[in-house]
Amino acid sequence: MHRPTEEGLEGYLEGTIETRLRREFERHLDACDQCRATVRSMKDQRYLISQLRAEEPIEPAPDFYARVIERIESQRYGSVWSLFLDPAFGRRLFYASVTLLVLLGTYLVSTEPVGPAHPRPESVFVAVERQSPPSTEIQRERDTILVNLATYPD
Ligand SMILES: [Zn+2]
Repeated sequence: MHRPTEEGLEGYLEGTIETRLRREFERHLDACDQCRATVRSMKDQRYLISQLRAEEPIEPAPDFYARVIERIESQRYGSVWSLFLDPAFGRRLFYASVTLLVLLGTYLVSTEPVGPAHPRPESVFVAVERQSPPSTEIQRERDTILVNLATYPD
């Protein structure tokens, strides 16, 4: 960038350049392709940036936060309790509960042990004890056999 461009560029872009400097600046741009290209690209960038910038600072309306909080509050209480106050939902909840109770009752009845097909551990234990005779009984039987053999008439 040459001296006239360097000195006058900012003022030229801002529109605050002195007339004398401006004439010198423009005369140089007419003669210098490099500076003309530089100034044009600067102008383009400046325009793009000005397009990106908002016209005026965005500020929420004075009652914006109050309305947001009010809406959150109304939705929080409304969503939970209105469900239970809704008669359709209450009916569905009632039928679902009754169905669940019936299913649970059916399950309990069908899994209740009935007879020897589903023996409980206690009854199995008792049955095993009954089947195998106590050892004293076995001993007595052996003694009886011995006595029988000893007294067997020749
Ligand atoms: Zn130049």
